[in-house]
Amino acid sequence: MIDLHTHSTASDGTLTPEELVDLAAEKGLRAIALTDHDTVGGISAALERGNQRRVLVIPGVELGACWNGDGEMHILGYHVDHQHPFLLDRLSWLRARRRERAEKIVSRLHEIGVPVSGDRVLQLAGSGSVGRPHVARALLETGYVQSVSEAFDRYLKAGAPAFLEKFQFTSAEAIELITISGGVAVLAHPATLRLSPDGLGACLEQLINEGLRGIEVYWSKHDKSEISYYEQLATRYALIITGGSDFHGSNKPTLELGAKLNGHVDEAYMLRALQRGNTLAGIRTAEAN
Ligand code: AMP
Ligand code: ZN
Ligand code: FE
Ligand code: FE
Repeated sequence: MIDLHTHSTASDGTLTPEELVDLAAEKGLRAIALTDHDTVGGISAALERGNQRRVLVIPGVELGACWNGDGEMHILGYHVDHQHPFLLDRLSWLRARRRERAEKIVSRLHEIGVPVSGDRVLQLAGSGSVGRPHVARALLETGYVQSVSEAFDRYLKAGAPAFLEKFQFTSAEAIELITISGGVAVLAHPATLRLSPDGLGACLEQLINEGLRGIEVYWSKHDKSEISYYEQLATRYALIITGGSDFHGSNKPTLELGAKLNGHVDEAYMLRALQRGNTLAGIRTAEAN
């Protein structure tokens, strides 16, 4: 088993990069990609632990992208150079925007009589990307809510009193940043775009023009019919098929580490295609079969 979509404490997961690799090793996973939001801060630690535990760690990142639809667009980057100066500069700039937003969210909470501590929110995020899940945890700790999901429902989700948009690159900018850093750009969880089948096709054509090379067909919350449609699209547009759980530790307790690839997909093929950045790389030769 492999898992190409995971989060650590470098963003809004609850396991450190090392703990994540340890869990992968315990579960018998051969490879994971660490795809934290707006940061590659956990990659070095994960690579090192991966070496020790014999789990292949693929350096990754997940970027939000603004677009003109109503769902969320996330772009995954695989095999990015996690020391690339331009990537590091842009990600650190994004994280600074996140801190400003978190401070504003905290101010709004204060205004509506929920004086959660801004320092605690930043402390929970540590050196990583601060986001609404950290605000949610601070609310939970203080007893304003009974669960993270209640925090989102009452205060933090879109339309709720303390919701604030996050700064995001356009899809073209996100894909370009990943590509410039040596990575392969993949559309994450297409179901969250909430597009009709034709709408998704048109959207993919635009993203492909911008440099997209893969689609996350397998994801914890994709149902069978979505999976089969995304597989068709991947074939039609020669996109690399990827799969991941979107594991966040106890921040999303229902998501387990280890992608359910339905046994249909050749994991080695998937890894090779991502490594080389195209679907043709994985074509098997007669002797390999
Ligand atoms: P942010 O990047 O700060 O906008 O926060 C986005 C993160 O919050 C993502 O990991 C989401 O999956 C998570 N999230 C969004 N809605 C909820 C919810 N209702 N319950 C728990 N986590 C959520
Ligand atoms: Zn997340
Ligand atoms: Fe995502
Ligand atoms: Fe994710």
